[in-house]
Amino acid sequence: MKTFNLSILLSLAVAVYCLPISQVTEQDESFAESYLKQFFNLAEDSNPTVRRGISPMTKKLAEMQRFFHLRVTGTPDPDTIAMMKKPRCGVPDGKIARFSITGSNFKWGGNSLTYRIENYTPDMARSEVDDSIERALQVWAKVTPLRFTRVYTGTADIMISFGRQSHGDYYPFDGPDGTLAHAFAPGPGIGGDAHFDEDETFTFRSDEGYILFLVAAHEFGHSLGLSHSNDPGALMYPVYTYSNPDTFVLPRDDVNGIQSLYGPNSKKDPNPGPTSPTTPDACDSTMVLDAVVTLRGDLFFFKDRFFWRSYPQSAQAQQSLITNFWPNAPVNIDAAYESQHLDRVLLFKGMCSLCPPNVPNALLSILSFIITYIN
Ligand SMILES: [Zn+2]
Ligand SMILES: [Zn+2]
Repeated sequence: MKTFNLSILLSLAVAVYCLPISQVTEQDESFAESYLKQFFNLAEDSNPTVRRGISPMTKKLAEMQRFFHLRVTGTPDPDTIAMMKKPRCGVPDGKIARFSITGSNFKWGGNSLTYRIENYTPDMARSEVDDSIERALQVWAKVTPLRFTRVYTGTADIMISFGRQSHGDYYPFDGPDGTLAHAFAPGPGIGGDAHFDEDETFTFRSDEGYILFLVAAHEFGHSLGLSHSNDPGALMYPVYTYSNPDTFVLPRDDVNGIQSLYGPNSKKDPNPGPTSPTTPDACDSTMVLDAVVTLRGDLFFFKDRFFWRSYPQSAQAQQSLITNFWPNAPVNIDAAYESQHLDRVLLFKGMCSLCPPNVPNALLSILSFIITYIN
């Protein structure tokens, strides 16, 4: 039986992943405080050592943990710090909700909007920047009556620029990683404008650096009146998530959000393409999971691009994108296995990643699996 199981598993592609372990340092704690001030409206003069009641810092930590579906501890634990350190949008996170809108006053009055690219990043060819911006706007135009026209002079509704550190508004950028970009809700003046942090490396479609199309599509959601969503599958989720720009389809949560402001696209698309992906709901009794695995006592349930992590001491499971946790892991996996010996989770998917160019990694993974299995 052992041989039978082994031969089946050998025919599958295997990848090995472990949980990041890190200790929280004093620097992390002060980083957490400034993160909460920037994104969760923690008061500047909040005193973390309040004697009576819950300190504002603990409250805001819990609020942040609820927003990101983390275990609510009210303390800056390693998972919380790891989430805070992920590259993200510079716009603060709002209420805990699926899609949310900045406010009913924050929408454009008409459906014809102009945009202007004020300067370029040296990271990419100009034609690639133009193309990325155009396609990012079309993501929203496809599902609404909104239409965008590029202008080359004067003030456009959406002014697009690249800048580093202090760049002319009250929201300086922070150097490489951290905050990637920010944008302003619809309105006159700076309203609708989108700024990109020039200290990042933006790319056209490589996964090394940040794909400008994905960052811009998110920012234009703000330019049109959307706030952040806590749906980990949504484009308006505040954390940057890699996805293939050539096959990107606006998720259902974002479609619902933008259509609540502007309505659907009245023009029938002759090539509607794939339907908007939805985020699986843990309460859906008809859902069939892809895989379940334990890791260090926690339970992981996999479905499509997502997993839920259930802690023994917590009633609520944390939902994440697989690639937010393990950036290079496959999605839509077929099976998973915990190797306690290696302190690793092995994810199994299909047959094809045994073909080049994945052979070395897959072979290494299989070898480590065999060693564990025999032991
Ligand atoms: Zn944002
Ligand atoms: Zn700015």
